[in-house]
Amino acid sequence: MLQPKTHSTEVQVTFLGTGTSVGVPMLGCDCEVCRSPDRRNNRTRCAIVLQLPQGTLLVDTPPDLRTQLLRERIPLVHAVLYTHEHADHLFGLDDLRLFPFRLGHPVPLFCQVGVEQRIRTSFDYAFSDRKPTHAGAVPQLEFQTIEEDPFEVLGVTVIPIPMKHGPHFDVLGFRIGDFAYCTDTNAIPEKSMKRLEGVRTFVVGALRRTPHPTHFNLEQAIEVAKQVDAEQTYFTHLSHDLDYEEIMAELPDGVFLAYDGLRVRAHISVP
Ligand SMILES: [Zn+2]
Ligand SMILES: [Zn+2]
Ligand SMILES: [Zn+2]
Repeated sequence: MLQPKTHSTEVQVTFLGTGTSVGVPMLGCDCEVCRSPDRRNNRTRCAIVLQLPQGTLLVDTPPDLRTQLLRERIPLVHAVLYTHEHADHLFGLDDLRLFPFRLGHPVPLFCQVGVEQRIRTSFDYAFSDRKPTHAGAVPQLEFQTIEEDPFEVLGVTVIPIPMKHGPHFDVLGFRIGDFAYCTDTNAIPEKSMKRLEGVRTFVVGALRRTPHPTHFNLEQAIEVAKQVDAEQTYFTHLSHDLDYEEIMAELPDGVFLAYDGLRVRAHISVP
């Protein structure tokens, strides 16, 4: 059988947010990083967007979503992938409410069943049988269930990277072409490490210097970066423990801290 013809194209990935669950600055803290004038120490909650040929693909809907999209001048999101259902990755979902007007259909949400259940519970008003009072009153959403098998979104293949996020919780990272995004994890199983082979731009969570029960700390993230051996690795989900300039000075070659607004390149196969 003839394989469909594909070619490689370069797409832009933008870090909307790079902060841990409480953001940086942290409410009530006046440490040096929280008071820092360096905007790279100012971190909203984690999300990225990929500008694909067929549309804008968002990963997660953090509480800061509206201000992040305004800041990056992104007027429309065509589809959303969810890594997991923690509040810092989910509770900006209502900001998707305007997009169905422009899309002409509900916003597709690609997520695992556990994430869907959390969304149906937390945003129950979006799934009520009652007729809405007016168009746009509630978000129009459409679930696309994903598991561990690769799936298609906006004309590209997404490979899920199953990972541990502490002892009781599983999350997904995602690989798209030569780019992988793996936040909120403290262990990447062997089978998932195989799925990261050949990645050229790798994003992984690194919370702080000291160990944490559900996130890689700096040292562990550096170790994973070495194993994956991408051309460039960016750390995200950063706490106020990590000053941008101080940490950048001590990271190995090819390893960097991400910051809000940072843009990187990914190479994907498209039809
Ligand atoms: Zn998180
Ligand atoms: Zn602080
Ligand atoms: Zn989490």
